[in-house]
Amino acid sequence: MVKQMRALLGSGGIGTNERRELYRNLMSENFADCERVVFVPFASNDYAGYTERMQDFAGQSGYELVGLHEFDDPLAAIEAMDGIYVGGGNTWLLVRALHERGLIEPIREAVLHRGVPYAGVSAGANVACPSMQTTNDMAVTMVPSFETFGIVPFQINPHYHPGGIWYREAEEGEFQQHFGETRARRVSEYHQTNNTPVIGLYEGSFLRCRNDSYELLGNKADVMRKNEEIVTQEPGTILRGDLTAA
Ligand code: ASP
Repeated sequence: MVKQMRALLGSGGIGTNERRELYRNLMSENFADCERVVFVPFASNDYAGYTERMQDFAGQSGYELVGLHEFDDPLAAIEAMDGIYVGGGNTWLLVRALHERGLIEPIREAVLHRGVPYAGVSAGANVACPSMQTTNDMAVTMVPSFETFGIVPFQINPHYHPGGIWYREAEEGEFQQHFGETRARRVSEYHQTNNTPVIGLYEGSFLRCRNDSYELLGNKADVMRKNEEIVTQEPGTILRGDLTAA
């Protein structure tokens, strides 16, 4: 690793003003030294519309957001840009597009060896992991491979919650228990055939990544390591690459 690896990985769910402010502040900090940040909109079907919405949201953040779909040569764009921001949506669409354009290795190289700051929310956080296998998304298309950037050594499950869902059919209706599979159950299935530790990020949580140190911010997270009890970590905790607390 030549320069410091710098990444911000989030779950999404920034539905309150407080969460939006944290997100904006963390993004500005992540891209502090950047003039132009490339936005990767491939998790959506509407590249132009999605990029415009993100440009509006980024507003006065101090960097210019430029859609990767606007470049004839996406590899040259990755070379030229000061930062990389991968948006959320459907992880399968995103991973297919990244492989088809030959972007996996160039983005990995940019982030890990050239120290180009990376931000990814939801699907954009999934693809920062070694593989896309802990996404929640439906398999809407075939992908050439599950392999993703591997700029962090663990897996992320975004939009995580501990289960115990109660719902009601009408605003005034009675709450009923859902009794569905929990995320922890699905992750334990991942661990039947894989060993990589998984962090389940609650909505509103972020990982501020600097080389091999990962600080949890905004909300809590559940750490799931194969054959071990789940450990809930609170914001402010610094994790190592194996997801144990530092
Ligand atoms: N669909 C999610 C996203 O926004 C990804 C996921 O849940 O795995 O990007």
